[in-house]
Amino acid sequence: MSRPRKVYVKSFGCQMNVYDSHRMADTLAPAGYAEAALPEDADLVILNTCHIREKAAEKVYSEIGRIRVMKEAAAAEGRRMLIAVAGCVAQAKGEEIIRRAGVVDLVVGSQNYHRLPELVARAIGGGKIVDTEFPVEDKFAVLAAPRRESIRRRGVTSFVTVQEGCDKFCTFCVVPYTRGAEVSRPVAQIVTEVERLAEGGVREITLIGQNVNAYHGAGEDGADWTLGRLLRRLAQVPGIDRLRYTTSHPRDMANDLIAAHAELPELMPYVHLPVQSGSNRILATMNRRHTRKDYFTVIRRLRDARSDLALSSDFIVGFPGETEADFRDTLALVEDVGFAGAFSFMYSPRPGTPAAEMADQVPQEEKAERLQRLQALITRQQRAFNARHAGCELDILLEKPGKLPGQLVGKSPYLQAVQVMAPHSAIGSIARVTITEVGSNSLFGALADDRYAPQLAAAGA
Ligand code: SF4
Repeated sequence: MSRPRKVYVKSFGCQMNVYDSHRMADTLAPAGYAEAALPEDADLVILNTCHIREKAAEKVYSEIGRIRVMKEAAAAEGRRMLIAVAGCVAQAKGEEIIRRAGVVDLVVGSQNYHRLPELVARAIGGGKIVDTEFPVEDKFAVLAAPRRESIRRRGVTSFVTVQEGCDKFCTFCVVPYTRGAEVSRPVAQIVTEVERLAEGGVREITLIGQNVNAYHGAGEDGADWTLGRLLRRLAQVPGIDRLRYTTSHPRDMANDLIAAHAELPELMPYVHLPVQSGSNRILATMNRRHTRKDYFTVIRRLRDARSDLALSSDFIVGFPGETEADFRDTLALVEDVGFAGAFSFMYSPRPGTPAAEMADQVPQEEKAERLQRLQALITRQQRAFNARHAGCELDILLEKPGKLPGQLVGKSPYLQAVQVMAPHSAIGSIARVTITEVGSNSLFGALADDRYAPQLAAAGA
């Protein structure tokens, strides 16, 4: 009997890539590919790449070098291994990847992975395959449904892509070029996927998209639905206890989305809302199309809708032309808002974007010094936010075993990781937990209700 074929998908970058990697494996399953635990055991290794961070392409080439060694070892055993590069670097670099790394068999863009079975079959037949055209068909309509096995691997939380691409063209960003124009999935497709995930044990769904709150998919009544309306519909899916969404743009924080935070107990009180800079001058050269005042207005309205709402954000430090005064505006914005966490990066030019051509680039040392100051402030705010919860009771969705025997790890409504002694059978449930200790990266707690007392006593915990 011939050995079943195996695929190994390695994800780089954002949550959308993690989601896409699951869907690639789902798509290849009907073609006879099981998932391999290690790349060296696979007949097909897919590198699902990300182009957002600096030196993304270089990282991919060094990873290809590592896989090349495995491919040669497989060939020495008489086994053929294919290497595919997918995702945003594939989309941006196309044929150049095969010119630079002849060991790669297949390059597939971020909008084309639903064609993988056909493309892999062609690559097996011989020749190098590159498919980076933006397709005319709807990728999601063609994709295979998530398999039970892949749902089980996701555990009790799952991402679901509802929107892809971006029409905003911030001057530093490659997304509009690598992912194309904004496209939203129809509501019925999303509901079917979420129902299937709920049946498989998923309790929490995070809706994802590069510009998720610009969502405008065809609704069940034929009208265009907003993200707020979609969230209201998904809150009705039996088994779904928690909903989140990311990543949002301040301009697209529509009234009905803000109102959903007041109405839906399933919608978690934590919003990631990138602002990038606190300086109006820099926001304008970034082409963000919002001011710091607009940002404050959105935040005030969100907090009016849900008083305990926690916020995180993204910041770019040292954007071309940023002065010390501009940077101080960013620090002042952070002080005024008070974040539960945030991601901050030094600006680095992405080839092909308008900002890469801007004349007044900020020297590296200045960028590094500003980044340090910003990160120190954000870390202080994050610690203060976590410390506020010491002694409080929080609802924790218990997700998976922790590091210690008898321990589980779960998430608070505010996306904090919480470690708690609880029986394995509690995975997937929402437990009331008293926070007993606050660490730098996670909280520690004890079950506040006695639902699991008999099991804990039996386990000697
Ligand atoms: S809104 Fe976000 S995805 Fe779109 S161009 Fe700006 S940074 Fe990139």
